[in-house]
Amino acid sequence: MSLIFLGPPGAGKGTQAKILAQQGPIAHISTGDVLREAIAFQTPLGKEAQAYVVAGELVPDSLIMGMIRERLSEPDTKLGWILDGFPRNVSQARGLDQLLSILCQPHPQVVYFDVDSNILVKRLLKRGRQDDNEETIRRRLEVYQTETTPLIDFYQRRRCLISLDGNQSESEVTNSLHLALQCTVSA
Ligand code: ADP
Repeated sequence: MSLIFLGPPGAGKGTQAKILAQQGPIAHISTGDVLREAIAFQTPLGKEAQAYVVAGELVPDSLIMGMIRERLSEPDTKLGWILDGFPRNVSQARGLDQLLSILCQPHPQVVYFDVDSNILVKRLLKRGRQDDNEETIRRRLEVYQTETTPLIDFYQRRRCLISLDGNQSESEVTNSLHLALQCTVSA
């Protein structure tokens, strides 16, 4: 099973990816988590990414693509993976297409978490992560609107997009996700 979780910051992608990855042998790959860890350890990647993450801007595609290429070559991804926070623009989505064809892997299923923007801001402020101050949140939502929302159309055209109502409670979203995945597997 290979999945892309698409949706705005605060949509619940990470929460649901964790739950799903605990239930089977699939790797949860959160680009935000990888970047925050790299920043904490001040690795070369972390040093390059830091200013972008702090400002709520996208880290340059070349850095992210290198990171994903390495991560998808690791053995724990062999039985499946969930990409959480990637791709975030059309160029990354094209980069992923190329990478998957090199790795001889099929196209992933895309799950879109649809959430109202007033709910997003509330959730993000409550989360209180270091890059979750009001200004950064506002910028991340703007970047999402301009850079990431075109991917909804991009994947819808391929007919591989499932939309979920992410306004529901955590367990309701988990149930909807299970149902949606069951339907696609048996379809
Ligand atoms: P959220 O979805 O809550 O905004 P993430 O944890 O997914 O947070 O990402 C945090 C930050 O990491 C982003 O604001 C951005 O700076 C950087 N980042 C994560 N994924 C990518 C990506 N695919 N491309 C560019 N930058 C990224």
